Amino acid sequence: MTAPYPWQQSQAGQLRRAWQSARVPHAILLRGVAGLGKRDFADWFTALLLCESENPVAAPCGSCRACRLLHGHGHPDVFSTGVEDGKRQLRIDAIRALVEFIRLSSQYGGYRVALVHQADHMTGNAANSLLKTLEEPPANAVILVLADQPARLPATVRSRCQQLRFAAPDTATAADWLAKAGIPDAAALLPVCGNAPLAAQSLQERDAGRLHQTLIEQLLALSQGKASIHSAADTWQAADLPLLLDLLIVILQQIQRQPVSPGDGTLPAGLASLRLDPDAAYGYLDYLYRTRALSDRALQPKLFVEDLLLRWQEIARQGSRAHLRA
Ligand SMILES: [Zn+2]
Repeated sequence: MTAPYPWQQSQAGQLRRAWQSARVPHAILLRGVAGLGKRDFADWFTALLLCESENPVAAPCGSCRACRLLHGHGHPDVFSTGVEDGKRQLRIDAIRALVEFIRLSSQYGGYRVALVHQADHMTGNAANSLLKTLEEPPANAVILVLADQPARLPATVRSRCQQLRFAAPDTATAADWLAKAGIPDAAALLPVCGNAPLAAQSLQERDAGRLHQTLIEQLLALSQGKASIHSAADTWQAADLPLLLDLLIVILQQIQRQPVSPGDGTLPAGLASLRLDPDAAYGYLDYLYRTRALSDRALQPKLFVEDLLLRWQEIARQGSRAHLRA
C-alpha cells in the first residue's frame, strides 16, 4: 500500500513523463490537505529520480543500489528537513543545511533531491533563505516543497515552484483503498476528514471509530433527556478533545444535511431525524470551530466537555419542542 496511491495517478504520470523526457522541474510544490499521502508521494518520486534500474518502465525498481539505500539508512544524494519535534516553526538553520547540501555535487552522478516537509511552517527568514536557492538552483538539483496550507507560503516561494495539486478522492475510491489496507471500518470516518484516506486511517488508529460511536450515543441520549451531562463528560479524556470537536462538527453537519441520504448510515435514525433550529445549529457550529483551536489547551477538560454537551442539549431539545409544536 505505497505511493503513488490510486488518487495520485495523474500527478505520478505527469512527473514520470517529465522524468522520461529529462525535463524535471528544479522545484515542485506538492500541495493539498493533510492525509492525502503527499509525503509518500515525494518519497516515491525521489526513488524514481535516483533509481539505477536499466528499465525505466519498472523504476523505481526497489532492488538496485539506490533503491536499497533509500529503503535503508538513506541515500547520500537525498536531504530531508521539516519542523523539529516539539517545535512549531521550520527554522532558518534547517533551510541553511538544505542549501548547503544542494550546492554540493552529486555523490552518485545523478540528481540531488532535497525535501522540505511542512514548508508552510517556515519562518520568514527560512523562506527567504530557501527563495535564494529556488532563484538560482544548481544543476541536477530537485527541491520538493510540501505544504498542507500553501496559502501560508510567501507568493515568491510559490511562484518559483511548479505546482502539483493533490485532491481527496471520491468516497468509493477512498473506501476501497481503506478496505484493501485492511481497515474497512475507517470508511465511516471519511466524512470526518474530508475523504482524505490516510487521515481516516490515522483517526482509526487514534480509536476514533469507538469514540465516534460513543459520542453519537451520548448526543442521542442527551437530546432525549435520557443521560446526564455530568456522566457523559466523564468518558472524555483531555487527549481526546481535538478529536471530540472534529467528530462533533461532522455529526452536526450530517444532521444539517437534511434529508440524510440513504448511504449516510453513520447516524442512528433518532439523531438523523432531529430538526434543529437552523440559526441555533449554525451558532453551535460556529462555536465548535472557534473552540477547536483552543481544545488542546483546555485547562479544565471536564468543564470544557460539559459546556459542549450542555449547548448541544439546548439546541437539540429546543429543536424537538419546535418540531412537536409544528
Ligand atoms: Zn531502483
